[in-house]
Amino acid sequence: MPSWEEMRMVGETCSQYEAADDGLERSCGSCEHWVDDEEMCELDIFFDQLTSLDQT
Ligand code: SF4
Repeated sequence: MPSWEEMRMVGETCSQYEAADDGLERSCGSCEHWVDDEEMCELDIFFDQLTSLDQT
């Protein structure tokens, strides 16, 4: 399960981010593609995004 910090860092840079609502902090947790029940991105790109963050 990703940490809150990881979800926030990925959300800030992810090109597929779509805000679930106005005025939310940018994070996977506020993205339309996040599946709460599974605690994972439905597009299966979370770990790719996280890995590319580590490389910068
Ligand atoms: S839930 Fe998926 S699409 Fe949304 S910001 Fe996170 S990695 Fe990107």
